[in-house]
Amino acid sequence: MNAQRLSDRLTRVASYVQLGSIVADIGSDHAYLPCYLIHHQIAKKAVAGEVAKGPYESAQRQVLEEQLDDKIEVRLANGLSAIAQDDLVDTVTIAGMGGPLITTILDQGFEKLKTVNRLILQPNIHAKAIREWAMTNGWNLIAEEILLEEDKIYEILVLERGEMKLSEAQTLLGPFLMEARNEAFYLKWSKESAEWNRILGAIRIAQSSREVQMKKEEIEEKLKIVKEAISK
Ligand code: SAM
Repeated sequence: MNAQRLSDRLTRVASYVQLGSIVADIGSDHAYLPCYLIHHQIAKKAVAGEVAKGPYESAQRQVLEEQLDDKIEVRLANGLSAIAQDDLVDTVTIAGMGGPLITTILDQGFEKLKTVNRLILQPNIHAKAIREWAMTNGWNLIAEEILLEEDKIYEILVLERGEMKLSEAQTLLGPFLMEARNEAFYLKWSKESAEWNRILGAIRIAQSSREVQMKKEEIEEKLKIVKEAISK
């Protein structure tokens, strides 16, 4: 992967960035995504935010090598503190982290989202945390994708401002994803179900405490939801 040729995962993330956007890519690593967005004249300006020094320096190097430093600002910062109000960022991308870390970043920088009208989030795990966050914070899912790349399954969630009410099944599986039910969706939930069944087996032979009992019920509920969705 490089800034000219992104992974399928980041190409799909890029496909949800609207023409003429001002983008902040948080946790940008090599800044491949913002470089791609500027090269392809999708975004007009971008901020690449990185909390870690090594990736921050890679991002700086990449942007300079590609001579995009007039369009992309690389900033060493934690989460959305990379954004200043006068950047007028309208789109935030956060890719390649766990869902709970993504929601922590959004919560901690809530003020910085004032000018933002689209969030494109690609959690590696626990996308459910993002759907829950969206419902309680006035964001509405407008699209979702699930894809398989190099044996890993990724989800992409695209949010705009608005109210959203999801059922328990939709929150776990994704309202768009459970409608489309593609191959990656089946694969993900078959694997998750196998893991949950393994845990249930271990729980059955463990000493039963109230906590264990609650975990067991939670897993059984999730298994029921998934079974219903993939047997349709
Ligand atoms: N976004 C790129 C992608 O999807 O290929 C890089 C993903 S990489 C696995 C995650 C990056 O997020 C790391 O470079 C890490 O330093 C950065 N990161 C983690 N927490 C962060 C935070 N709170 N603020 C900014 N960057 C963060």
